[in-house]
This record gives sequence, structure tokens and C-alpha cells, in this order.
Amino acid sequence: MNDTTTPKTIEIDIHADGVCCNGGDGALGHPKVWYSFNDNSNSAQCSYCDRIFTKKT
Ligand SMILES: [Zn+2]
Repeated sequence: MNDTTTPKTIEIDIHADGVCCNGGDGALGHPKVWYSFNDNSNSAQCSYCDRIFTKKT
């Protein structure tokens, strides 16, 4: 089996100042962390589970 681990990309509201991630349920769960967006950035990547949060455009 060739199991490619592609990071999930999660869309969030365009007006959000940041996003909270706890990895979801199951094996990918991790302590809840908050990521804020910079003025010139519309995406953030979770350092725990590698999920990418992108603002909807
Ligand atoms: Zn995460």
C-alpha cells in the first residue's frame, strides 16, 4: 500500500482573525492551539497536524 499523507486544507471564513486547531478526533488529535493570521497572510499551517487553513476568497 502506498499511503500518501497529503495535508488537509481547510477553508475558513474570510473575516476570521485566526483559527483554532486541535487536530480533530482520533489519532491526529493534539493540544488545542490558536493560529492568527498576519495582515499579509491568508493561510496558516498547523505545526502539529500539518493542516493548512486558508481563508475563503
Ligand atoms: Zn492541528
